[in-house]
Amino acid sequence: MPEGDERQDAHDVDPSVFRAPIGTHDVLPPDSEGWIEVVATFARRARRFGYGLVVTPVFEHLEVFQRVGASTDVVRKEMYEFDDKGGRRLALRPEGTAPVVRAYVQHRPAVPWKVWYLAPHFRYERPQRGRYRQHWQLGAEVMGVDDPDVDVEVIALAHGFYRDLGLERIRLLLNSMGDAASRPAYVAALRAYLLDHGGSFGEEFRARVEQNPLRLLDAKRPEWQDVIERAPQLTEYLSDASAAHFEQVQQGLRALGIGYELTPRLVRGFDYYTATTFEFVSDSLDAAQNALGGGGRYDQLAEDMGGPPTPSIGFGVGIERVLIARAAEPGDRRPSGSRLDAFVIDAIGDGAATLLAAELREAGLAADRAYGGRSVKAQWKLADRSGARYAVMLGRREAEHDAVAIKDLRDPAGTQRELPRRELAGWLQARREDARHETPGADW
Ligand code: AMP
Repeated sequence: MPEGDERQDAHDVDPSVFRAPIGTHDVLPPDSEGWIEVVATFARRARRFGYGLVVTPVFEHLEVFQRVGASTDVVRKEMYEFDDKGGRRLALRPEGTAPVVRAYVQHRPAVPWKVWYLAPHFRYERPQRGRYRQHWQLGAEVMGVDDPDVDVEVIALAHGFYRDLGLERIRLLLNSMGDAASRPAYVAALRAYLLDHGGSFGEEFRARVEQNPLRLLDAKRPEWQDVIERAPQLTEYLSDASAAHFEQVQQGLRALGIGYELTPRLVRGFDYYTATTFEFVSDSLDAAQNALGGGGRYDQLAEDMGGPPTPSIGFGVGIERVLIARAAEPGDRRPSGSRLDAFVIDAIGDGAATLLAAELREAGLAADRAYGGRSVKAQWKLADRSGARYAVMLGRREAEHDAVAIKDLRDPAGTQRELPRRELAGWLQARREDARHETPGADW
């Protein structure tokens, strides 16, 4: 069959196929500027706190994620699982901690192991604003220390990150899940209470109580709320060691001036949590998707994966949620500054624009230009559209005395001025410094 016949005619193409799958989205410029800023803010802060970047595969053996909790929806119902061509059962990463712990157990780095990550996460959820089938998280983990100071440090890292981004309408919810000594007694008391008081709630309620009564504490069903609200609280059942740890975490937060709300029903979505758990919520988001990030201790997980006893704590932050919250804050502080310092307009030809753009870029400036021998008029239009701060024109008249013409593109009434070419890079750099003062955070 001739090759052409195999190709589909354009009108046979199903347009829905050539769209991002439901629950996923593309991030395009200029919106991606916000993304760069969020990631760079986190990276800078993590480095200041002594955390190194860890990059793990996007998929792992299924068992790695099954460890994070057989009773969690993320593992039971929402995982993207598949067999590869070699018959291995794999899953796309639904959460960030398990792969880091798997890498720790595999490589056995010296402790404390302080790492951060940036990774896509996959969950087959019902998509809505702030809830996607692929979302991105930034996270940090500290493995190998049970000192409550580490809990405070990790929370302070997250807290400062939100503050760096100008998020003000956020609250820190704090709880302790107790340890192996305190949890079983609480789970038994909670199960007995729920079966006793929720007898009329039907089979689903009963099944969930049997499977993991902790999961019910953050169930959203309105008709269950009365009973759940009056349930015994975990903090009343903490062992002495757990209670002392929790008290020290709170003292540390108070010393750093980080406000928190004790939230006894905060259980979070995974089974591995022990001791401190926390969540940052934004009052700028809808209640159902108001979590900006959260985490907690998981002192048993490394052992569950065959590693040595390794008390650990970490958290994850949803990038999309942070961007939505930021846009919704009253004093939206997203930088409005241009990322291009100059757009080169070439009225001479002969490769002059190539040379000047290269010169500026090598001097550390962001410069762009037109291609394809466009007319000078067309180049001015492109300069305007580019969002660059200045247009730099290479004209014959200016070239005679080795100069260029400059125009401030943000000033519609602005006139052109002439500058010796050798001074151009320094002049633009000085203006760039000014702009940075106007838009904090634009200097990633
Ligand atoms: P989790 O791994 O469930 O503790 O979630 C950590 C953070 O990731 C949450 O606080 C959200 O900010 C974000 N997140 C979780 N699931 C989604 C999702 N389906 N879509 C977008 N963001 C999410």
